[in-house]
Amino acid sequence: MKPNSTNVIPGEDRLGVDIRDVEPESITTIIDEATACLDRLERERGVKTEFTPDLDIDPVPMSDRCREGMLAAGANAGYDVPELVSGAGHDPMRIAAATDAGAELATHRVASLRLGAEGVVVDEARTANVVIGADGANSVVARQLGQPRNPAGHRAVALRGYTEEAGGLDELTFDWKSAEGMAYSWAFPLAGGRANVGAIRLTDRLSGGRAALQQEMAHDLPDLYPRADSVKGHTLPLASRRPDPAPAPRALLAGDAASLINALSGEGIYYALASGAMAGHAAVTATDPGAAYRSRLRGRFAAHWRHTRAIAALLRLPGPVTSMLITADRDPETLEALLDLTLGDGTVTARRVRRAGTALARHAAARASPRAAKATRPHGDPALTRRR
Ligand SMILES: Cc1cc2nc3c(=O)[nH]c(=O)nc-3n(C[C@H](O)[C@H](O)[C@H](O)COP(=O)(O)OP(=O)(O)OC[C@H]3O[C@@H](n4cnc5c(N)ncnc54)[C@H](O)[C@@H]3O)c2cc1C
Repeated sequence: MKPNSTNVIPGEDRLGVDIRDVEPESITTIIDEATACLDRLERERGVKTEFTPDLDIDPVPMSDRCREGMLAAGANAGYDVPELVSGAGHDPMRIAAATDAGAELATHRVASLRLGAEGVVVDEARTANVVIGADGANSVVARQLGQPRNPAGHRAVALRGYTEEAGGLDELTFDWKSAEGMAYSWAFPLAGGRANVGAIRLTDRLSGGRAALQQEMAHDLPDLYPRADSVKGHTLPLASRRPDPAPAPRALLAGDAASLINALSGEGIYYALASGAMAGHAAVTATDPGAAYRSRLRGRFAAHWRHTRAIAALLRLPGPVTSMLITADRDPETLEALLDLTLGDGTVTARRVRRAGTALARHAAARASPRAAKATRPHGDPALTRRR
Protein backbone atom coordinates (compact mmCIF):
# COMPACT_ATOMS: atom_id res chain seq x y z
CA MET A 1 0.00 0.00 0.00
CA LYS A 2 1.39 3.46 -0.85
CA PRO A 3 1.74 5.63 1.18
CA ASN A 4 2.22 2.83 3.68
CA SER A 5 -0.25 3.68 6.32
CA THR A 6 -3.28 1.56 7.16
CA ASN A 7 -5.70 4.31 8.12
CA VAL A 8 -5.60 6.58 5.05
CA ILE A 9 -7.03 6.07 1.55
CA PRO A 10 -4.00 4.74 -0.35
CA GLY A 11 -2.72 6.23 -3.59
CA GLU A 12 -1.63 2.82 -4.82
CA ASP A 13 -2.47 -0.69 -3.67
CA ARG A 14 -0.78 -3.89 -4.84
CA LEU A 15 -2.25 -7.32 -4.26
CA GLY A 16 -0.38 -10.58 -4.88
CA VAL A 17 -2.50 -13.57 -5.84
CA ASP A 18 -1.38 -17.18 -6.24
CA ILE A 19 -3.77 -19.20 -8.37
CA ARG A 20 -3.33 -22.98 -8.37
CA ASP A 21 -5.40 -25.76 -9.87
CA VAL A 22 -4.93 -29.14 -11.51
CA GLU A 23 -6.74 -27.92 -14.65
CA PRO A 24 -5.19 -25.07 -16.68
CA GLU A 25 -8.73 -24.10 -17.81
CA SER A 26 -9.78 -23.40 -14.20
CA ILE A 27 -6.79 -21.09 -13.77
CA THR A 28 -7.73 -19.25 -16.98
CA THR A 29 -11.33 -18.89 -15.73
CA ILE A 30 -10.17 -17.38 -12.42
CA ILE A 31 -7.84 -14.96 -14.23
CA ASP A 32 -10.69 -13.92 -16.57
CA GLU A 33 -12.95 -13.29 -13.59
CA ALA A 34 -10.25 -11.29 -11.80
CA THR A 35 -9.58 -9.07 -14.83
CA ALA A 36 -13.36 -8.59 -15.39
CA CYS A 37 -13.59 -7.48 -11.76
CA LEU A 38 -10.74 -5.00 -12.29
CA ASP A 39 -12.50 -3.62 -15.39
CA ARG A 40 -15.66 -3.13 -13.33
CA LEU A 41 -13.70 -1.31 -10.61
CA GLU A 42 -12.23 1.03 -13.24
CA ARG A 43 -15.72 1.80 -14.62
CA GLU A 44 -17.49 2.17 -11.31
CA ARG A 45 -14.82 3.77 -9.13
CA GLY A 46 -12.76 5.82 -11.56
CA VAL A 47 -9.52 4.10 -10.51
CA LYS A 48 -6.75 2.72 -12.73
CA THR A 49 -5.97 -1.00 -12.43
CA GLU A 50 -3.32 -3.29 -13.84
CA PHE A 51 -2.96 -7.09 -13.86
CA THR A 52 0.59 -8.47 -14.34
CA PRO A 53 1.26 -12.23 -14.19
CA ASP A 54 4.75 -12.97 -12.75
CA LEU A 55 4.85 -16.68 -13.38
CA ASP A 56 2.78 -18.93 -15.58
CA ILE A 57 3.38 -22.66 -15.19
CA ASP A 58 1.07 -25.43 -16.34
CA PRO A 59 -0.04 -27.91 -13.66
CA VAL A 60 1.85 -31.21 -13.88
CA PRO A 61 0.74 -34.59 -12.51
CA MET A 62 3.17 -36.34 -10.18
CA SER A 63 4.81 -39.36 -11.79
CA ASP A 64 2.74 -42.56 -11.55
CA ARG A 65 5.81 -44.42 -10.28
CA CYS A 66 6.15 -42.08 -7.26
CA ARG A 67 2.42 -42.09 -6.51
CA GLU A 68 2.24 -45.86 -6.72
CA GLY A 69 5.36 -46.19 -4.53
CA MET A 70 3.82 -44.00 -1.83
CA LEU A 71 0.46 -45.77 -1.97
CA ALA A 72 2.20 -49.16 -1.66
CA ALA A 73 4.38 -47.93 1.25
CA GLY A 74 1.27 -46.66 3.07
CA ALA A 75 -0.63 -49.88 2.45
CA ASN A 76 2.35 -51.98 3.64
CA ALA A 77 2.44 -49.97 6.87
CA GLY A 78 -1.28 -50.67 7.35
CA TYR A 79 -2.55 -47.15 6.59
CA ASP A 80 -5.58 -46.22 4.60
CA VAL A 81 -3.99 -43.70 2.22
CA PRO A 82 -6.20 -41.07 0.57
CA GLU A 83 -4.97 -39.39 -2.63
CA LEU A 84 -4.69 -35.62 -2.41
CA VAL A 85 -3.88 -32.99 -4.99
CA SER A 86 -0.69 -31.17 -3.98
CA GLY A 87 -0.95 -27.41 -4.02
CA ALA A 88 2.83 -27.07 -4.10
CA GLY A 89 4.10 -29.39 -6.78
CA HIS A 90 7.35 -27.49 -7.35
CA ASP A 91 9.46 -30.61 -7.81
CA PRO A 92 7.26 -32.26 -10.46
CA MET A 93 6.92 -28.92 -12.29
CA ARG A 94 10.68 -28.40 -12.41
CA ILE A 95 11.34 -32.00 -13.36
CA ALA A 96 8.68 -31.80 -16.08
CA ALA A 97 10.37 -28.70 -17.52
CA ALA A 98 13.73 -30.53 -17.64
CA THR A 99 12.34 -33.78 -19.06
CA ASP A 100 10.32 -31.85 -21.66
CA ALA A 101 13.61 -30.26 -22.75
CA GLY A 102 15.12 -33.72 -23.28
CA ALA A 103 16.59 -34.69 -19.88
CA GLU A 104 16.05 -38.21 -18.62
CA LEU A 105 15.20 -38.60 -14.93
CA ALA A 106 16.77 -41.56 -13.14
CA THR A 107 16.87 -42.02 -9.38
CA HIS A 108 19.86 -43.83 -7.94
CA ARG A 109 21.99 -43.62 -4.75
CA VAL A 110 25.56 -42.99 -5.90
CA ALA A 111 28.30 -44.97 -4.16
CA SER A 112 31.31 -44.55 -6.44
CA LEU A 113 32.66 -42.28 -9.12
CA ARG A 114 35.58 -42.73 -11.49
CA LEU A 115 37.13 -40.34 -13.98
CA GLY A 116 37.69 -42.42 -17.10
CA ALA A 117 38.84 -41.62 -20.63
CA GLU A 118 35.25 -42.24 -21.75
CA GLY A 119 33.76 -39.73 -19.25
CA VAL A 120 32.75 -39.75 -15.58
CA VAL A 121 31.71 -43.26 -14.61
CA VAL A 122 29.08 -43.55 -11.87
CA ASP A 123 28.91 -46.87 -10.00
CA GLU A 124 30.45 -48.59 -13.03
CA ALA A 125 26.94 -48.46 -14.47
CA ARG A 126 26.49 -45.09 -16.16
CA THR A 127 28.94 -42.84 -17.95
CA ALA A 128 28.32 -39.12 -18.08
CA ASN A 129 29.98 -36.32 -20.01
CA VAL A 130 29.74 -34.09 -16.91
CA VAL A 131 28.67 -34.97 -13.35
CA ILE A 132 27.44 -32.33 -10.89
CA GLY A 133 27.60 -33.52 -7.29
CA ALA A 134 24.71 -31.79 -5.51
CA ASP A 135 24.42 -34.54 -2.93
CA GLY A 136 24.53 -32.47 0.23
CA ALA A 137 26.75 -32.06 3.28
CA ASN A 138 28.03 -35.66 3.28
CA SER A 139 28.64 -35.63 -0.45
CA VAL A 140 29.78 -38.99 -1.79
CA VAL A 141 30.77 -37.28 -5.04
CA ALA A 142 33.09 -34.82 -3.22
CA ARG A 143 34.76 -37.63 -1.22
CA GLN A 144 35.16 -39.77 -4.35
CA LEU A 145 36.87 -36.82 -6.02
CA GLY A 146 39.34 -36.58 -3.14
CA GLN A 147 37.86 -33.46 -1.52
CA PRO A 148 38.16 -33.49 2.30
CA ARG A 149 35.35 -32.74 4.74
CA ASN A 150 35.41 -29.27 6.29
CA PRO A 151 37.52 -29.25 9.47
CA ALA A 152 36.05 -28.27 12.86
CA GLY A 153 35.63 -24.49 13.04
CA HIS A 154 34.35 -24.50 9.47
CA ARG A 155 31.42 -26.78 10.25
CA ALA A 156 28.23 -26.17 12.19
CA VAL A 157 25.57 -28.49 13.47
CA ALA A 158 21.87 -27.61 13.40
CA LEU A 159 18.80 -29.19 15.00
CA ARG A 160 15.24 -28.49 14.01
CA GLY A 161 11.96 -29.74 15.53
CA TYR A 162 8.24 -28.99 15.68
CA THR A 163 6.20 -28.18 18.77
CA GLU A 164 2.51 -29.04 19.15
CA GLU A 165 1.85 -25.59 20.66
CA ALA A 166 3.39 -22.21 19.88
CA GLY A 167 3.22 -21.02 23.52
CA GLY A 168 2.00 -17.51 22.61
CA LEU A 169 4.78 -17.03 20.02
CA ASP A 170 3.54 -14.74 17.25
CA GLU A 171 6.71 -13.74 15.36
CA LEU A 172 10.06 -15.05 14.21
CA THR A 173 12.47 -14.97 17.16
CA PHE A 174 16.25 -15.38 17.23
CA ASP A 175 18.33 -15.81 20.35
CA TRP A 176 21.95 -15.02 19.43
CA LYS A 177 24.87 -15.94 21.66
CA SER A 178 27.62 -13.41 22.10
CA ALA A 179 31.25 -14.42 21.48
CA GLU A 180 30.37 -17.93 20.23
CA GLY A 181 30.73 -17.27 16.50
CA MET A 182 27.59 -18.21 14.60
CA ALA A 183 25.40 -19.53 17.42
CA TYR A 184 21.69 -18.95 17.78
CA SER A 185 18.34 -20.56 18.45
CA TRP A 186 15.23 -19.72 16.48
CA ALA A 187 11.48 -20.19 16.75
CA PHE A 188 8.60 -19.18 14.54
CA PRO A 189 4.88 -19.94 14.61
CA LEU A 190 3.32 -22.26 12.02
CA ALA A 191 -0.25 -22.63 10.81
CA GLY A 192 -2.35 -24.75 13.15
CA GLY A 193 -0.84 -23.29 16.34
CA ARG A 194 2.45 -25.19 16.13
CA ALA A 195 5.99 -23.80 15.96
CA ASN A 196 9.24 -24.56 14.14
CA VAL A 197 12.15 -24.40 16.61
CA GLY A 198 15.85 -25.03 16.17
CA ALA A 199 19.40 -24.20 17.12
CA ILE A 200 22.73 -23.94 15.37
CA ARG A 201 26.30 -23.98 16.76
CA LEU A 202 29.84 -24.23 15.41
CA THR A 203 31.11 -27.76 16.02
CA ASP A 204 34.36 -26.54 17.63
CA ARG A 205 32.33 -24.58 20.20
CA LEU A 206 30.01 -27.43 21.10
CA SER A 207 31.22 -30.25 23.30
CA GLY A 208 28.67 -32.98 23.87
CA GLY A 209 27.30 -33.12 20.31
CA ARG A 210 23.60 -33.36 19.56
CA ALA A 211 22.50 -33.96 23.17
CA ALA A 212 24.30 -30.79 24.30
CA LEU A 213 22.76 -28.78 21.47
CA GLN A 214 19.30 -30.07 22.35
CA GLN A 215 19.84 -28.96 25.94
CA GLU A 216 20.98 -25.50 24.84
CA MET A 217 17.93 -25.22 22.61
CA ALA A 218 15.64 -26.10 25.56
CA HIS A 219 17.43 -23.46 27.62
CA ASP A 220 17.07 -20.76 24.95
CA LEU A 221 13.43 -21.58 24.18
CA PRO A 222 12.13 -22.66 27.56
CA ASP A 223 8.40 -22.72 26.71
CA LEU A 224 8.72 -24.52 23.40
CA TYR A 225 9.15 -28.29 23.55
CA PRO A 226 9.59 -29.98 20.17
CA ARG A 227 8.11 -33.48 19.77
CA ALA A 228 11.02 -35.87 20.28
CA ASP A 229 10.35 -37.71 17.00
CA SER A 230 10.30 -34.42 15.07
CA VAL A 231 13.84 -33.33 16.00
CA LYS A 232 16.36 -33.82 13.18
CA GLY A 233 20.00 -32.81 13.14
CA HIS A 234 22.44 -32.17 10.35
CA THR A 235 25.98 -30.99 9.71
CA LEU A 236 26.44 -27.73 7.81
CA PRO A 237 29.74 -27.29 5.93
CA LEU A 238 30.42 -23.54 6.00
CA ALA A 239 31.75 -21.48 3.12
CA SER A 240 34.59 -20.19 5.33
CA ARG A 241 36.49 -23.30 4.04
CA ARG A 242 35.50 -24.70 0.69
CA PRO A 243 36.71 -27.66 -1.37
CA ASP A 244 37.61 -27.10 -5.01
CA PRO A 245 34.16 -26.75 -6.65
CA ALA A 246 35.52 -28.36 -9.81
CA PRO A 247 37.97 -31.09 -8.74
CA ALA A 248 38.05 -32.32 -12.34
CA PRO A 249 37.17 -30.50 -15.57
CA ARG A 250 34.02 -32.64 -15.91
CA ALA A 251 33.09 -33.22 -12.25
CA LEU A 252 31.60 -30.24 -10.39
CA LEU A 253 30.25 -29.73 -6.87
CA ALA A 254 27.30 -27.50 -5.98
CA GLY A 255 25.42 -26.46 -2.84
CA ASP A 256 26.31 -28.12 0.46
CA ALA A 257 28.53 -30.60 -1.41
CA ALA A 258 30.75 -27.58 -2.22
CA SER A 259 30.45 -26.20 1.37
CA LEU A 260 28.58 -23.13 0.24
CA ILE A 261 26.67 -22.48 3.48
CA ASN A 262 26.83 -18.89 4.72
CA ALA A 263 29.24 -18.76 7.68
CA LEU A 264 27.27 -15.96 9.36
CA SER A 265 23.78 -17.39 9.16
CA GLY A 266 23.92 -21.11 8.30
CA GLU A 267 21.65 -20.45 5.31
CA GLY A 268 22.37 -22.58 2.28
CA ILE A 269 19.36 -22.72 -0.02
CA TYR A 270 20.21 -19.55 -1.97
CA TYR A 271 23.78 -20.73 -2.59
CA ALA A 272 22.63 -24.25 -3.54
CA LEU A 273 20.24 -22.84 -6.13
CA ALA A 274 22.70 -20.26 -7.47
CA SER A 275 25.63 -22.71 -7.72
CA GLY A 276 23.44 -25.49 -9.16
CA ALA A 277 22.24 -23.16 -11.92
CA MET A 278 25.83 -22.03 -12.66
CA ALA A 279 27.13 -25.62 -12.71
CA GLY A 280 24.31 -26.73 -15.01
CA HIS A 281 24.96 -23.82 -17.36
CA ALA A 282 28.71 -24.51 -17.46
CA ALA A 283 28.08 -28.23 -18.05
CA VAL A 284 26.07 -27.64 -21.21
CA THR A 285 27.79 -24.56 -22.64
CA ALA A 286 31.52 -24.61 -21.80
CA THR A 287 34.29 -26.59 -23.43
CA ASP A 288 35.99 -26.75 -20.01
CA PRO A 289 32.99 -26.85 -17.63
CA GLY A 290 35.21 -27.03 -14.52
CA ALA A 291 37.15 -23.86 -15.34
CA ALA A 292 34.02 -22.00 -16.46
CA TYR A 293 32.08 -22.96 -13.32
CA ARG A 294 34.96 -22.11 -10.96
CA SER A 295 35.39 -18.72 -12.57
CA ARG A 296 31.64 -17.87 -12.50
CA LEU A 297 31.31 -18.95 -8.90
CA ARG A 298 34.33 -16.86 -7.93
CA GLY A 299 33.08 -13.85 -9.91
CA ARG A 300 29.75 -13.88 -8.10
CA PHE A 301 30.82 -14.85 -4.59
CA ALA A 302 34.58 -14.32 -3.96
CA ALA A 303 34.20 -10.90 -2.28
CA HIS A 304 31.14 -12.08 -0.36
CA TRP A 305 33.03 -15.12 1.00
CA ARG A 306 36.01 -12.96 2.02
CA HIS A 307 33.82 -10.52 3.89
CA THR A 308 31.57 -13.09 5.58
CA ARG A 309 34.65 -15.06 6.71
CA ALA A 310 36.15 -11.93 8.28
CA ILE A 311 32.90 -11.06 10.06
CA ALA A 312 32.41 -14.68 11.16
CA ALA A 313 35.82 -14.48 12.89
CA LEU A 314 34.76 -11.22 14.61
CA LEU A 315 31.64 -12.91 15.97
CA ARG A 316 33.89 -15.03 18.20
CA LEU A 317 34.77 -11.88 20.16
CA PRO A 318 32.48 -10.37 22.80
CA GLY A 319 30.64 -7.31 21.49
CA PRO A 320 30.28 -7.53 17.71
CA VAL A 321 27.01 -9.54 17.69
CA THR A 322 25.31 -7.05 19.98
CA SER A 323 26.67 -4.03 18.08
CA MET A 324 25.67 -5.50 14.74
CA LEU A 325 22.12 -6.25 15.89
CA ILE A 326 21.73 -2.85 17.57
CA THR A 327 22.80 -0.98 14.45
CA ALA A 328 20.60 -3.12 12.17
CA ASP A 329 17.69 -2.51 14.51
CA ARG A 330 18.25 1.28 14.41
CA ASP A 331 19.09 1.75 10.75
CA PRO A 332 16.99 0.12 7.96
CA GLU A 333 19.84 0.44 5.43
CA THR A 334 22.23 -1.43 7.74
CA LEU A 335 19.54 -4.09 8.26
CA GLU A 336 19.22 -4.43 4.47
CA ALA A 337 23.01 -4.78 4.15
CA LEU A 338 23.09 -7.39 6.92
CA LEU A 339 20.35 -9.39 5.22
CA ASP A 340 22.28 -9.21 1.92
CA LEU A 341 25.36 -10.53 3.68
CA THR A 342 23.62 -13.32 5.57
CA LEU A 343 21.09 -14.45 2.98
CA GLY A 344 22.53 -13.40 -0.36
CA ASP A 345 25.76 -12.32 -2.03
CA GLY A 346 26.21 -8.97 -0.23
CA THR A 347 29.55 -7.43 0.74
CA VAL A 348 30.79 -4.87 3.25
CA THR A 349 31.57 -1.45 1.80
CA ALA A 350 33.27 1.53 3.45
CA ARG A 351 29.97 3.42 3.21
CA ARG A 352 28.10 0.66 5.00
CA VAL A 353 30.71 0.54 7.77
CA ARG A 354 30.49 4.35 8.20
CA ARG A 355 26.70 4.21 8.31
CA ALA A 356 26.67 1.40 10.88
CA GLY A 357 29.26 3.32 12.92
CA THR A 358 27.03 6.41 12.94
CA ALA A 359 23.98 4.36 14.01
CA LEU A 360 26.01 2.77 16.79
CA ALA A 361 27.37 6.13 17.96
CA ARG A 362 23.80 7.50 18.05
CA HIS A 363 22.72 4.49 20.07
CA ALA A 364 25.56 5.05 22.56
CA ALA A 365 24.62 8.72 22.85
CA ALA A 366 20.98 7.79 23.28
CA ARG A 367 21.81 5.40 26.10
CA ALA A 368 23.70 8.15 27.81
CA SER A 369 20.67 10.46 27.53
CA PRO A 370 17.18 8.85 27.65
CA ARG A 371 15.64 11.91 25.94
CA ALA A 372 17.93 11.49 22.93
CA ALA A 373 16.95 7.80 22.89
CA LYS A 374 13.35 8.77 22.20
CA ALA A 375 14.37 11.13 19.41
CA THR A 376 16.78 8.80 17.60
CA ARG A 377 14.73 5.59 17.58
CA PRO A 378 12.70 5.28 14.35
CA HIS A 379 8.94 4.68 14.66
CA GLY A 380 7.64 1.15 14.46
CA ASP A 381 11.08 -0.38 13.98
CA PRO A 382 10.69 -3.92 15.33
CA ALA A 383 13.26 -5.27 17.77
CA LEU A 384 15.39 -7.77 15.91
CA THR A 385 16.13 -10.08 18.74
CA ARG A 386 15.59 -10.95 22.34
CA ARG A 387 19.04 -10.53 23.83
CA ARG A 388 19.85 -12.51 26.93
C1 LIG B 1 17.94 -27.85 10.62
C2 LIG B 1 18.33 -27.09 9.40
C3 LIG B 1 17.64 -25.93 9.07
C4 LIG B 1 18.03 -25.19 7.94
N1 LIG B 1 17.33 -24.06 7.64
C5 LIG B 1 17.67 -23.36 6.54
C6 LIG B 1 16.94 -22.18 6.20
O1 LIG B 1 16.00 -21.78 6.88
N2 LIG B 1 17.35 -21.48 5.11
C7 LIG B 1 18.39 -21.89 4.32
O2 LIG B 1 18.73 -21.22 3.34
N3 LIG B 1 19.09 -23.01 4.62
C8 LIG B 1 18.74 -23.75 5.70
N4 LIG B 1 19.45 -24.90 5.99
C9 LIG B 1 20.53 -25.32 5.06
C10 LIG B 1 19.90 -25.92 3.79
O3 LIG B 1 19.01 -26.96 4.16
C11 LIG B 1 21.00 -26.51 2.87
O4 LIG B 1 22.04 -25.60 2.71
C12 LIG B 1 20.39 -26.83 1.49
O5 LIG B 1 19.35 -27.77 1.62
C13 LIG B 1 21.48 -27.39 0.57
O6 LIG B 1 20.91 -27.88 -0.62
P1 LIG B 1 21.67 -29.02 -1.43
O7 LIG B 1 20.79 -29.29 -2.61
O8 LIG B 1 23.10 -28.66 -1.65
O9 LIG B 1 21.69 -30.29 -0.46
P2 LIG B 1 20.48 -31.13 0.15
O10 LIG B 1 19.26 -30.29 0.32
O11 LIG B 1 21.04 -31.82 1.35
O12 LIG B 1 20.14 -32.18 -0.99
C14 LIG B 1 21.03 -33.23 -1.30
C15 LIG B 1 20.24 -34.33 -2.00
O13 LIG B 1 21.17 -35.34 -2.44
C16 LIG B 1 20.65 -36.62 -2.11
N5 LIG B 1 21.79 -37.52 -1.91
C17 LIG B 1 22.64 -37.58 -0.87
N6 LIG B 1 23.57 -38.54 -1.07
C18 LIG B 1 23.29 -39.08 -2.27
C19 LIG B 1 23.90 -40.13 -3.03
N7 LIG B 1 24.96 -40.79 -2.60
N8 LIG B 1 23.36 -40.44 -4.24
C20 LIG B 1 22.26 -39.77 -4.69
N9 LIG B 1 21.64 -38.78 -4.01
C21 LIG B 1 22.16 -38.45 -2.82
C22 LIG B 1 19.86 -36.39 -0.81
O14 LIG B 1 18.90 -37.43 -0.64
C23 LIG B 1 19.24 -35.03 -1.07
O15 LIG B 1 18.01 -35.15 -1.78
C24 LIG B 1 19.10 -25.64 7.11
C25 LIG B 1 19.76 -26.83 7.43
C26 LIG B 1 19.39 -27.53 8.56
C27 LIG B 1 20.12 -28.79 8.89
